[in-house]
Amino acid sequence: MNDELKDLYQEIIIEHSKRPRNYRSQESARSAHGYNPLCGDQVEIFVKMNDGRVEDVSFQGSGCAISTASASVMTEALKGKTEAEAEELFGHFHDLVTSGEESDELDLGKLAVFGGVSEFPARVKCATLCWHTLKAAIAGKDQPVTTE
Ligand code: ZN
Repeated sequence: MNDELKDLYQEIIIEHSKRPRNYRSQESARSAHGYNPLCGDQVEIFVKMNDGRVEDVSFQGSGCAISTASASVMTEALKGKTEAEAEELFGHFHDLVTSGEESDELDLGKLAVFGGVSEFPARVKCATLCWHTLKAAIAGKDQPVTTE
């Protein structure tokens, strides 16, 4: 990754952590709690499904810049996706943050900004917490999710 791109990616992450999108709770939505004890990140994901697709998704919580930005970008990426498409995105996102490799079969869009996380293994859980929590919310599990 060249430095210019790295700077741009960093800017997007900082911007999303300062002004997170879809930062709100939702009445009568499926929700789940996630906790990353390694960093102290807490997140609650709210998701409304309609006809098998994500109609609305939002979050609340407190955590580091990476966890907040990841949840913010995730909510933007998920609207209109089916559960299977969301799972697929998570798979590619997980590969990206662990290996730094971008998928060539799927365009990750803005999610690609988290590629740099792969250089900091301790931050991988910060970036994936919201995705694990989303899965639990869609599945209707009310057990808190933990990355440990
Ligand atoms: Zn964190």
